[in-house]
Amino acid sequence: MNKQRCLLVVSGPSGAGKDTVVARLMQTHPEIEISVSATTRAPRAGEVEGVNYYYLSDAEFEAKIARGEMLEYAGYCGRYYGTPKSEVDGRLDAGITVVLVIEVQGAANVKRLYPESTLIFLMPPSIEELRARLLGRGTESAEAVERRLERAKEEMAHAGEYDFTVVNRDIDACAKEIWRILRARQSE
Ligand code: 5GP
Repeated sequence: MNKQRCLLVVSGPSGAGKDTVVARLMQTHPEIEISVSATTRAPRAGEVEGVNYYYLSDAEFEAKIARGEMLEYAGYCGRYYGTPKSEVDGRLDAGITVVLVIEVQGAANVKRLYPESTLIFLMPPSIEELRARLLGRGTESAEAVERRLERAKEEMAHAGEYDFTVVNRDIDACAKEIWRILRARQSE
């Protein structure tokens, strides 16, 4: 099997449930490993350095870009987010399936670098449902929620560039569907 087939990219608007669905996927398939991204946004309550993200200053992030240590990176709502090469390359070489939960620009860059990777777009059932989830999460101000919703609409317009789109109505069903896609792809 081509090593790139071990690379799974999941995108979807903020609030679509990417983290929850990926966590469920990894619970049922512990052989899958997640890539921990770097970001310049501040940690949210309960988030842990090296688990949720590597939290960097702008200068630290830019130094990593300059040293060629980022596989991809993008700006999102005024912050940098990126995938360190060290999270991915060694694992692919070892044949380990690695999942990247990243936004659309980064996903497009990964697909250019790894054309055999599998890109899945996770859709919320509707924008209303998305707003309700974002507000219910209570991690962002009302203004930040509106900004994320605007970005969500832009992101959803890119769903057609992905290999597959999965609508997240139910976490379990969604995780199973992603697993089915991945397995089919890896056994092609
Ligand atoms: P949040 O601030 O909600 O954790 O993440 C904001 C957005 O950045 C989400 O769409 C998330 O998937 C995306 N993101 C997280 N890590 C990365 C990354 O390494 N690269 C890119 N391009 N996007 C990322």
